[in-house]
Amino acid sequence: MAKKPTRAAKGQKTPDTVPAIEESIQEKKKRVRRILTKLKKCYPQAECALTHRSPYQLLIATILSAQSTDETVNKVTPVLFKTYKTPRALADAPREEVETIIHSTGFFRQKAKSIQGAAKRIADDFSGKVPQDMDDLTSLPGVARKTANVVLGTGFGINEGVVVDTHIGRLATRLAMTWTSKNAKDAVKIERDLMEIVPRKEWTPMGHTLIWHGRKICSARKPECEACALAKLCPSASSFG
Ligand code: SF4
Repeated sequence: MAKKPTRAAKGQKTPDTVPAIEESIQEKKKRVRRILTKLKKCYPQAECALTHRSPYQLLIATILSAQSTDETVNKVTPVLFKTYKTPRALADAPREEVETIIHSTGFFRQKAKSIQGAAKRIADDFSGKVPQDMDDLTSLPGVARKTANVVLGTGFGINEGVVVDTHIGRLATRLAMTWTSKNAKDAVKIERDLMEIVPRKEWTPMGHTLIWHGRKICSARKPECEACALAKLCPSASSFG
């Protein structure tokens, strides 16, 4: 059973602003390398939690995952892809039918519009194939940079940028892997900082392991610093009561 989120106790520090530390970029790079090594050891099996068999399925699943859970999306997509086997079939489907299938993911009207719009562009303008280019991807309805990074990194193995979702934003902040951002919501600056200090080939695997660590140990409300393998490398480790 999923744990009920607990509110942070009154007065408890929840430092989702970047902790102030004296550290050069070189020192930061060295510390981050050690963090990534530990994360890989902790989560050797870490991968994208959205079930998919192709970059196209990953794209649609990622659009559906906004404001939803991966578990919910993983229940919906097998039905969606069995009913509409190609981008053209999804694009031409009656809107109400699509809305009914994806209803449980929330914001179903907007999402139906986005996935059908994206499927139509893929069918009409890209010969039924998902483009492997950031500008082309972000020209699709419902696709912003974060979704494009997921598709490029996990779907095609192209490290064009770093995915910054809610977990990665929070962990990069607590671990002081960002320094130009003010807080965990500043995805643009966090991505830029991560791209500067993390080797490009690590961008996608780092994203997967950080997300797993965020789900299992470093949750938003109740980080388990005492059980955390990164505690000695984390400037926020002593900040939670
Ligand atoms: S020590 Fe671990 S659990 Fe605690 S804030 Fe740092 S990364 Fe999160």
